[in-house]
Amino acid sequence: MQIVKVLIEYANRTLNRPFSYLYKGNVKIQKGIRVLVNFNHRDIFGYVVDVEETNKTAEELEMESGYQLSEIVSIIDQTPLLDQELLTLLDEVSSYYQAPKISVLQVMLPPSLSPRKSALKAPKIAYDQFYELLDDSEEGLTNKQIELLRFIKQEKRVLKKDVKSKSIADKLLEAGKIHITKEEKRRLKIPDYKYENPPLLTDDQKNVIKEFNDSNDDVYLLEGVTGSGKTEVYLSLSEQVLNSGKSVLMLVPEISLTPMMVEYFLHRFKDNVAILHSDLTPAEKYDEYRKIAKGECHIVVGVRSAIFAPLKNIGLIILDEEHTESYKQDTLPFYHAREVAIMRGKYNHAKVLLASATPSLESRARGQKNVYHMLYLTKRINNQKLPTTKIVNMLDYRNIDRDSYIFSHALREAIHATLSRNEQVILLINRRGFSTHVNCRECGHVFKCPTCGIALTYHKSDNMLKCHHCDYVEPYPEVCPECGSRHLLKTGFGTEKIQDEVARLFPNARTLRLDSDSAKNKSRIPETIEAFRKKEVDILIGTQMIAKGHDFPDVTLVGIVLADIGLSMPSFRSNERAFQLITQAIGRSGRKEKPGLAIIQTYMPSHYAITFAARQDYELFYRKEMEMRKLQFYPPYAYITSVTVRGRNEDSVIENTYQIVDFLNDEFFDEAQILGPTTPYVPVDMGFHLRSILLKYRDPAKARVILAKMLDLFGNNSQFELFVNVDSYNF
Ligand code: ADP
Ligand code: ZN
Ligand code: ZN
Repeated sequence: MQIVKVLIEYANRTLNRPFSYLYKGNVKIQKGIRVLVNFNHRDIFGYVVDVEETNKTAEELEMESGYQLSEIVSIIDQTPLLDQELLTLLDEVSSYYQAPKISVLQVMLPPSLSPRKSALKAPKIAYDQFYELLDDSEEGLTNKQIELLRFIKQEKRVLKKDVKSKSIADKLLEAGKIHITKEEKRRLKIPDYKYENPPLLTDDQKNVIKEFNDSNDDVYLLEGVTGSGKTEVYLSLSEQVLNSGKSVLMLVPEISLTPMMVEYFLHRFKDNVAILHSDLTPAEKYDEYRKIAKGECHIVVGVRSAIFAPLKNIGLIILDEEHTESYKQDTLPFYHAREVAIMRGKYNHAKVLLASATPSLESRARGQKNVYHMLYLTKRINNQKLPTTKIVNMLDYRNIDRDSYIFSHALREAIHATLSRNEQVILLINRRGFSTHVNCRECGHVFKCPTCGIALTYHKSDNMLKCHHCDYVEPYPEVCPECGSRHLLKTGFGTEKIQDEVARLFPNARTLRLDSDSAKNKSRIPETIEAFRKKEVDILIGTQMIAKGHDFPDVTLVGIVLADIGLSMPSFRSNERAFQLITQAIGRSGRKEKPGLAIIQTYMPSHYAITFAARQDYELFYRKEMEMRKLQFYPPYAYITSVTVRGRNEDSVIENTYQIVDFLNDEFFDEAQILGPTTPYVPVDMGFHLRSILLKYRDPAKARVILAKMLDLFGNNSQFELFVNVDSYNF
């Protein structure tokens, strides 16, 4: 008999330990497979972490332990799901992020292989069936049968579903002339791109590649201004690595927003590329995953979770736009793809290349200390100039167009001039909806989300009030629910309002809006981007979705309608985020032959995040922001971890958070700054109350020990749940 230790599928702290089950069958159970087990009278998934042979009977075991072990219900997998590297990575990630192993497994594996019960209904392997020739003698066959037999012989094999006359094929099968073979099918349909000869590299690109090749360092940070040709560097390096017999992992922030990157890789490397992103169906993910695991593809292009792709013999890992926060998962296990990339790089002796026009401060600071090897591309391709920029002070009424409180004279005139040259405009406003606040003029009542407590945004297209944090919606009311007044005031503006305003001021311009409302329908993103690229649209209006990565040759004006949004958010990262967004947005202008212009409207015209972004001067911003971080003891000068307590009863949540703060103060002594309990920006989550603690410290190894102890002590309470977010981005 075998005693099988399994992790069960609930990624809950209190259940974060192996449970024992018996197996009396003949199969030798292997570590790393999934089994079905009974837990609390339900059949759920378990992941086998250990197996012991025993000669004792079930009765003897029960006598020993004092309780009855139940039996495994069934075995799901024949072979282990992870290879040795990924098993090691599983341990490393779950220990670095203090996360339950099962939660790491659930992000590592595609839905069909995930240790959760929904996998039972997940897609299975699909096959294509073919007719193939066995015997080409034609004696005794009818003319029709001979015709099909010769066709199959000539084609070598024919897809079964392409043969119309099934009865004739059946006769040939019966007569033993042909047989059916099957082959696994790839459900993701990839267009057949033509190979394009790469452009000749510029001297700058060659120099970067040479420096990369000549060095033995592990991790590189490529700081390259917008339009400096970073993509071509990725492609060249990838080609080298493939030629040396190794494989390449290429991460991008979000594929639907940057379809060009995938296309570049498909053009160059064709069938050798597997694609992993969140818009794939579970069936497509499963096929891509198996193709990678079987070694049929040597390049993976994918988003955050693709960092766990079962690629073997990795020679290079690239993170494009490495500063992007979507690389950090903000739910369990709270991992950051950059850290995981470095772990995998070490194991594989592979180089890791991080790249951005606006690197994260953390990465740039590691570059400064030579932990990462800095590489630079300081000029645009063909020495194309960076755009001319103009900051417009919106506090000065003389700058504002009387006819529109949203647009300045400068921006309105520039849009006009650009359109009359038949060139294109991007307008960025990093807020969706029509107006951001609705309140009653009589009694002052503010419309807020009942679950999150944050102000509701008015959306004109469907006349609804929406919460931008959860999915709460309500129809826009006629009267104030508090006092019955009809005088409701809408203030603040978002993308919808800008689109209205543009339609009013430029009635002949063709506009499209791209934000997460318009992108609810997934195919809208590529359609919008494609329409803009083909110049079927003159003005593209959108949120940060339109700021990144795109390469539109005819965009010569970028208007940042209100640069201050975000700067007033209560986070130490808000300057960095604003700088990155403005710099990236400006970088969309004037990328090909025509010179570009960018106009930045702001109420804070002398804020350094805005002035340095206008100058496209990352290095100056970096130095200034580093001084601020040093003063305030924030990353990169400190490590941070947030601890969130979540429970039904608010008083008990507060009480317990205080106890945890006390514990942490005792343990860290004076080696950490502990802030809290604080009430998060969104204080309630699906009826659960939240309180947070922020830890700032210098010694991550010590913190890991203390956090583990904290989880042991407080993590098993039925009144509340604890979430530990190492290197948190939520503060
Ligand atoms: P980045 O990612 O650095 O912002 P891209 O990789 O998008 O910049 O490159 C900007 C533009 O320059 C693209 O249109 C690209 O096709 C072009 N380009 C890149 N390298 C070369 C080269 N060696 N010769 C000619 N054009 C190039
Ligand atoms: Zn009122
Ligand atoms: Zn809400």
